[in-house]
Amino acid sequence: MRGQMMYQALTTGSLIDHAARYHAGTEIVSVATKGGVERTCWADISANARRLASALDHLDVPAGARCGTIAWNNRRHLEIYFGVGAGGRVTHTINPRLSPEHLIYIINDAADEVLFFDHTFLPSIHQLQPHLKTVKHFVLMDPRDEEALSTLGSLKFFDELVAHGDAQHAWPELDETTPAALCYTSGTTGKPKGVLNSHRSLVLHALGGNQPDGTCISARDSLLPVVPMFHVNAWGIPFIAAMAGARLVLPGPNLDGDSLLKLLTEEKVNVAFGVPTIWMGLMAALKSSGAQLPDLERSFVGGTALPPSMINTFRDDYGVELIHAWGMTETTPIGTINMPLRKHSELPLEQQREIRHAQGRPIFGVELRVVDAEGNTLPNDGESQGSLQVRGHWVVECYYGSKEHALTDDGWFDTGDIATLDENGYLVIRDRAKDIIKSGGEWISTVDLENIAIAHPGIANAAAIAARHPRWDERPILLCVRAQGSSVEESELLANYEGKVAKWQIPDRAVFVDTLPMSATGKVLKNRLRDEYGQILAEDRE
Ligand code: ADP
Repeated sequence: MRGQMMYQALTTGSLIDHAARYHAGTEIVSVATKGGVERTCWADISANARRLASALDHLDVPAGARCGTIAWNNRRHLEIYFGVGAGGRVTHTINPRLSPEHLIYIINDAADEVLFFDHTFLPSIHQLQPHLKTVKHFVLMDPRDEEALSTLGSLKFFDELVAHGDAQHAWPELDETTPAALCYTSGTTGKPKGVLNSHRSLVLHALGGNQPDGTCISARDSLLPVVPMFHVNAWGIPFIAAMAGARLVLPGPNLDGDSLLKLLTEEKVNVAFGVPTIWMGLMAALKSSGAQLPDLERSFVGGTALPPSMINTFRDDYGVELIHAWGMTETTPIGTINMPLRKHSELPLEQQREIRHAQGRPIFGVELRVVDAEGNTLPNDGESQGSLQVRGHWVVECYYGSKEHALTDDGWFDTGDIATLDENGYLVIRDRAKDIIKSGGEWISTVDLENIAIAHPGIANAAAIAARHPRWDERPILLCVRAQGSSVEESELLANYEGKVAKWQIPDRAVFVDTLPMSATGKVLKNRLRDEYGQILAEDRE
């Protein structure tokens, strides 16, 4: 006998319907691409999402068609998130900072039929257009704009499409395994690969991610997702916000510290989401302005390792809790979030704080293991370091367009990260497999070296990479950006490592640079640094 309860498909349409039904008037604040702030609400987002779905029907965009977006975090992008997916099509979010070759590759690979884009990207779309074979409708996310029309013939305008759409349009009945969203990995090594989220996986991710020990978002919260909607579903925050009926503040194109500080203050944001470089920018703005953050309570930080020194500064100087989280495109992305256990409250304060440095423990729906080079599972002892593997309801099974599983023979996805797990499941990412340094047969974690450098008051940012070495194969070197006004020198910085890591792990050099090359998703492009600096020890003998 089967259980005898109602069955309802888990679809993203159900999330926006809930928001429109029970949180209709809750505000959505959106910084417009050309400046200024738009204020709308869940009822209007929902009505526009339905209008958009009906407009796509009128354009004969078929069910399952991929609709690309190249856009900032704004309310039109939110309407597309729901209108395209709940309307039975697939929102294909595209990272605008990819190289033109990669952009052309992924738009053609996804065979996007519609391409929605913000005004910022008009010039690049103009250049890409001749190479985009499958796109039938280019849609500028704006009202009608004659100048834009003269740049790109056959352009459609989002606001006109929506104005002609039907606000009562009924969502099609969808099987919950229907795809809703597509996102490509950054492709720093090899070609980008598409991860196709189903409705079911997105809804389960929102439910699993928003437990009290997860993002813990409620209808009383005002959220600022600085994480881009063009990458990994903005960590699922648009879906979680709709499910919880939270207020959303969408920051548009300006993500510098001063702009964020203004937005956090004026819009009384209490929960934010972003990668460490975003909070580095905010920290600099706070220092130079002397401002405080009276409303901000907590911020979720992931994408790259969160330096412990940053956790301390935000907690001690601004009363803001930075919560470390880990995930990846292939995991939708939330995998772990760092919240303490009941027993931790009995530990001395310093130890409690140290626990919060890790990437956290798995939320319900995610399982983790570390394995050695032969694929044997290693103990969860906080010390055994191996390849991190994951499985769960919102973990990729195969990449878009591929017929082969992306999993191990026993059904786990290998993340490409090197990590430890402790007896409570707390994850520590030691490095990415492709970044870790192997010196004379021993591993050195670049994350550890970077955390020490960044904790130095004279350093704004740092990256550790492997340089080729004639005797040791690889040796660590540091590329550092000095903090404003700092004149810290190499010898002082390297002396600072003594006692903090084993002597042989201390970097051989520290090179000062003006900036570090960054991806649009806030990751240091270490392959570029290795190309430029990887040979500087080639003449060393010791
Ligand atoms: P890509 O950069 O290839 O597009 P993602 O944006 O999906 O990949 O990033 C996933 C990777 O980011 C993870 O495999 C991991 O290496 C890194 N990462 C994510 N969160 C953290 C974190 N909190 N600490 C360290 N590394 C992290």
